[in-house]
Amino acid sequence: MPQATLKPGVVTGSDYRVLVDAAKSGGYALPAVNVVGTNTINSVMEAAAKANSDIIIQLSNSGAAFYAGAGMEDGFKAKVMGAVAAARHAHLLAEHYGICVVMHTDHANRKLIPWVEAMLDEGEKFYEETGKPLYSSHMLDLSEDDIDFNLSECARVLERMAKIDMSLEIELGVTGGEEDGVGGEFDESADNSRLYTQPEDVLRAYELLDPIGHFSVAASFGNVHGVYKPGNVKLRPEILKNSQDLVQSTHNTGPNPLHLVFHGGSGSEKAKIHEAVGYGVFKMNIDTDTQFAFSERVGAFVEENPKAFKFQIDPEDGTPYKKFYDPRKYLRLGEQGIVDRLQEACEDLKSKGRSIAAA
Ligand SMILES: [Zn+2]
Repeated sequence: MPQATLKPGVVTGSDYRVLVDAAKSGGYALPAVNVVGTNTINSVMEAAAKANSDIIIQLSNSGAAFYAGAGMEDGFKAKVMGAVAAARHAHLLAEHYGICVVMHTDHANRKLIPWVEAMLDEGEKFYEETGKPLYSSHMLDLSEDDIDFNLSECARVLERMAKIDMSLEIELGVTGGEEDGVGGEFDESADNSRLYTQPEDVLRAYELLDPIGHFSVAASFGNVHGVYKPGNVKLRPEILKNSQDLVQSTHNTGPNPLHLVFHGGSGSEKAKIHEAVGYGVFKMNIDTDTQFAFSERVGAFVEENPKAFKFQIDPEDGTPYKKFYDPRKYLRLGEQGIVDRLQEACEDLKSKGRSIAAA
């Protein structure tokens, strides 16, 4: 079968499904990078273009609020309008980078269901105007709640999303680490359903959600958010395979019927990442490492040019420092840090050179 191609730009609906399937059948996954403003969103698109990789851009609720402006008084409105602004920015610019971009929002727990619903109000308006949703997908992370509530809410929201060609990412089992407020102690027994996703739960999700619309599963297999000392992360990708196998054998599907997402992959062994990708992981989140890549470059620049961050003109010899303190100078260095770090991510996930965008 010839390789499917898509027009460059933000992909949604059936194009999004084509992209997910291309990654899974091609044995690679797409980096999903958290952004907080135009500097980060543009550098992610630049990185993808440079790597000739398609890419997923995502915003957390606080990232979306920051996008709208940390000074905006109504915090809830900022979370919604920032998400809208970021998506509109990507819809306008992504095609000019020549790659496919998936727009996604990250973790939304029970408290944040109204955020997701408010974004869907905006998504529905945009769909009426353009025939496309604002976002390719949203995540609803109700893994802290009991599984009945988790699944029934996901079904309810997916009903609404499916009508505007959107996909839903759900979470089963809790990813450890800072982001979710789960402490640093990990119980490594495989029957701990809080840290290791249970195949029976995944089967239930598949049976409920697959008839409604497209969805993906963030599964927990020992992954943790953030970066910890080596040895603290004990990945067990076979947990993913067990879920795929159970759905496949129960419903007579093809191999890897589930679309799986890898949260908290920072610092994982490459071999475990590759194993997870082989079990149907098409998306791996990256945030901590790109944050550091940005800040490391800015930090080095400030350290090399300390006077430019204290004086407009050197008090001793009159040297003007404008070209050093112009924020574009160091913001660009931060952007380049992200571009470089993502080349490595695309290599690790084997998405480098695999973009299916064709003009
Ligand atoms: Zn996560």
